[in-house]
Amino acid sequence: MDNKRFETEVIHKGYHATQHQGSLAPPIFQTSTFVFDSAETGAARFAGEQEGYIYSRLSNPTVAMLEERIAAMENGERGLAFGSGMAAVSAILLGLTKTGDHVLCSEGVYGCTFGLLQLMEEKYHITHNFHSMDDEDSIRSSITDHTSVIYIESPINPTMKLVDLEMIARIAKEFGIPVVVDNTFSSPYLQRPLDLGCDVVIHSATKYLCGHGDVIGGLAVGKKELMSHLAMTTQKDIGGVMSPFDAWLLLRGIKTLPVRMDRHCDNAKKLANLLKEHPSVSKVLFPGDCDFPQYELANKQMSNSGGLISFELKGDKATAQKFMNTLRLIKIAVSLGDAETLIQHPSTMTHAVVPEENRKQMGISDQLLRLSVGLEAWEDIWADLDQGLNQI
Ligand SMILES: *Cc1c(COP(=O)(O)O)cnc(C)c1O
Repeated sequence: MDNKRFETEVIHKGYHATQHQGSLAPPIFQTSTFVFDSAETGAARFAGEQEGYIYSRLSNPTVAMLEERIAAMENGERGLAFGSGMAAVSAILLGLTKTGDHVLCSEGVYGCTFGLLQLMEEKYHITHNFHSMDDEDSIRSSITDHTSVIYIESPINPTMKLVDLEMIARIAKEFGIPVVVDNTFSSPYLQRPLDLGCDVVIHSATKYLCGHGDVIGGLAVGKKELMSHLAMTTQKDIGGVMSPFDAWLLLRGIKTLPVRMDRHCDNAKKLANLLKEHPSVSKVLFPGDCDFPQYELANKQMSNSGGLISFELKGDKATAQKFMNTLRLIKIAVSLGDAETLIQHPSTMTHAVVPEENRKQMGISDQLLRLSVGLEAWEDIWADLDQGLNQI
């Protein structure tokens, strides 16, 4: 199948029913190993002289369908599937660094990515530093002879701060350093970093790609040569691979990504506007808000503003917790991108490990809440928020 439009690829890419007895849904190849028809066949597969499956940690047909699909969605050459978003992050970062190297990161990365970077520093002397990523000269001067990766999230959790991906890719090219982007918050439907010149895209597939809150998974996409190397090293030997059943659930969830994202985005826009006007709310952080400091950048690199809103209440930590406890429809939970609207309190939950001083510097106050807007009727989500806001 030649390249079709995104909405078509998410349904068809990587699966050929005619090769599977006409089954409309892809089969789940729930097997650990594959039988060789002779000793010579086994030897030829191990030698790489013959195509074919060997063992499901190396590759599995259901997982391979998903890898082909995500590669098409990100406009990349090869995709790899992992058992979690963090298995993807660790396989990519460990694959691109060695002892003595340095990683330049956006200011604010996922909590466990922060933990991994600390582990890499303590155990392997791979250093890192965080950079605001908004001034070209300052970025250039933060790159050292040892910098081997630039690692970016955009939008950054939970402040929704954006990083100009095209600018970072251009600077990185001058130095010949790969740029890795965690694209979890946008999904490839809203933002495609490889098209902007970045080198590797990572997803926690647990979030929007799955969309139904029933899988933990990770995906990565990049150039064939690099991804094949990672497949044979950090993916295969560290071994954080995805199960065939989880790949099947993701193939299923991904089919509706565009329609789901449209609704997430529409709902979020309506709710962000209403929150902004409520007297109990002091601040709304949402890339689709025309007062958002990086509204122009959002329009430049994202096709829509996403389904996540952070907002600050007038009050303190107790106000935020009291508000959460009044909610009935909206569920108190971390994670994001599900059909259900979820709310979490970054300073005591996802960012509790970040020292208070750093939290304040990043703009994470004790009154800040992050809402992952679900697929319910926006009127019902608003009614729940509104009754809560009126009680504080
Ligand atoms: C959830 C998340 C991860 C980690 O993914 P898991 O699937 O939980 O391992 C990484 N990055 C971002 C931005 C996330 O939201």
